[in-house]
Amino acid sequence: MFASVLSAAIFGMEVREIQVEADVSDGLPSFTMVGFPSAQVREAQERVRTAFKNNRLSLPPKRVTVNFAPADMKKEGAGFDLPVAAAVMAAAGILEPELLKEVLIVGEISLNGEIHGVSGVLPRVIRARELGLRFCIIPQENLREGRLVRDMQVVGVKTLTDMICCLKEPQMYTYPEPEVEKRESQEEKGVDFADICGQEAARRAAEIAVSGFHNILFIGPPGSGKTMLARRLPTVMPKLTFEESLEITKVYSVAGLLTEKDPLIRKRPFRSPHHTSSPQALAGGGRIPGPGEITLAHRGVLFLDEMPEFSRKSLEILRQPLEDKEIHLSRAAGTYTFPASFMLAAAMNPCPCGFYPDMNRCRCTPGEITHYLGKISQPLLERIDICTEVPAVSFSKMKKRIQGESSAKIRERVEAVQEIQRKRYQKEEICFNGELDGRMLEKYCVLTRAAEEILEQAYGQFQFSTRAYHKILKVARTIADMEKSEKIQSEHICEALTYRAYDKKYWS
Ligand SMILES: [Zn+2]
Repeated sequence: MFASVLSAAIFGMEVREIQVEADVSDGLPSFTMVGFPSAQVREAQERVRTAFKNNRLSLPPKRVTVNFAPADMKKEGAGFDLPVAAAVMAAAGILEPELLKEVLIVGEISLNGEIHGVSGVLPRVIRARELGLRFCIIPQENLREGRLVRDMQVVGVKTLTDMICCLKEPQMYTYPEPEVEKRESQEEKGVDFADICGQEAARRAAEIAVSGFHNILFIGPPGSGKTMLARRLPTVMPKLTFEESLEITKVYSVAGLLTEKDPLIRKRPFRSPHHTSSPQALAGGGRIPGPGEITLAHRGVLFLDEMPEFSRKSLEILRQPLEDKEIHLSRAAGTYTFPASFMLAAAMNPCPCGFYPDMNRCRCTPGEITHYLGKISQPLLERIDICTEVPAVSFSKMKKRIQGESSAKIRERVEAVQEIQRKRYQKEEICFNGELDGRMLEKYCVLTRAAEEILEQAYGQFQFSTRAYHKILKVARTIADMEKSEKIQSEHICEALTYRAYDKKYWS
């Protein structure tokens, strides 16, 4: 007898439907799998057969053939165990083949018939909803994750027997309305901008950066609080909407990084890969690549501490996603695209010892300093809009421990500024000032006469590159938005110029 059931595979972030077909017919007892399964998928036959035996489900001594369609792409992962088991059961007469219609099944089986969780359940359930299926059967471990999808019936199963019961009487297991978890994140106790004393200039730069989604670089001696500042960037970003949360959760689902208890990601990601991280770890590695750090930082912050210590190759990998907001990885089986709309924050010492330009303390030779700064390529530097110094905190400030403004306060302002941008760019493909380019710069960055004169003067004096000139305009646009000014005034241009002055100072 023949039976078939729908399952799905994950290719990058993309979900592809896979039809799992089974046929049980007379002949020498055997179990064959065709349709381009990987070695790992092929092992399903051993697990399924043993799980059947241990659950007193007798597989008739016949010829069993399982096929995965379409056959033109390689099937990877352990998620096919459960659909294979279901298709074989139906083909062997244990289940009515009718029961498998319009159902999506995914899950891994252990030898005793228990079902284990798999990664990438969320995108599969979303796909099932798009296809208008009746319901999905997923491992119990992934149930909360699957239930995040509204308007889709999802059933969690723990054992092979569970699956049989639920296929026979789905109404007993599905719920009219999946419980959508609306639990508000409790006021996060974590980090807060209030913890930082002093550093007004760097705080201001950070607020501008977040408001306009500009990439930012903190330069300063060791221990001045660069990392502390960067860690607090996500806390002043606007709170995630449910759709954004789901989008990020999808990425973490594919990466297998969700927790069983509370799978929905409610906080903006902050990823801080170590400087020894390989280019693959940043971009996403593997024959069928999974999300790398760049993608895990989607809609949040990617923080590179001690940026010059990263290998050149790792840093160069950032350039394309910084431009395109997504990353493309080519493999033999095709090109995979992952989302990568992140804000880049980087921190570095100004020289190997960390104290340049304080010549009383810096022990480095000019050659060493040039070499150190030279590790950051000009093209990468040009993608960082704001560069700010984080000086060592003076003893008197440290002693007074003046509390800074809280993240919640700053976030209110940031949200207002982002709202201005949202309205302005409604008809454009961008959302933030940080994404402005040639044509749009001209259209949206209108300067007052006085501001224009200052910019012209600075241009003559410092000989900016075109890119640098654009960056000044973008940052000035954000500063003007923070002051609710339609036109860019001279003080906005002046402030924007100071953020260029630092990288002129170090890299000229
Ligand atoms: Zn030094």
